[in-house]
Amino acid sequence: MTEFDTMIFRPSGADIRRHPCGARVFYAEPVAGGRLRASNHHIPVDVDPVPNGKFAVYPRPGKSPTVQHISAPKAVGMKAAGIPLYQLHMPECPKRDQIRAAARRKATR
Ligand SMILES: [Zn+2]
Repeated sequence: MTEFDTMIFRPSGADIRRHPCGARVFYAEPVAGGRLRASNHHIPVDVDPVPNGKFAVYPRPGKSPTVQHISAPKAVGMKAAGIPLYQLHMPECPKRDQIRAAARRKATR
């Protein structure tokens, strides 16, 4: 345990969901920074941290975590400190086109 442990979100148990494509993801609330706009619309994040991850996830007691885009220089420092970085699921999702088309249909209904 280090002082960072309370700042680091590690998905487990009920956090982990199945995306429609079958991938294991968790949902997080975007906070403004870099490529993300703040939103209360939760977005799927791949469960496993990745070496070239560009997104940090922060726990919030009693709430879903937040996700923030991290600039490349900051990401290097965070990785050196042992903080896991993640990638967003949607850009990698094999079903993203179907899911986005369905969301558009729903929005215009
Ligand atoms: Zn997916």
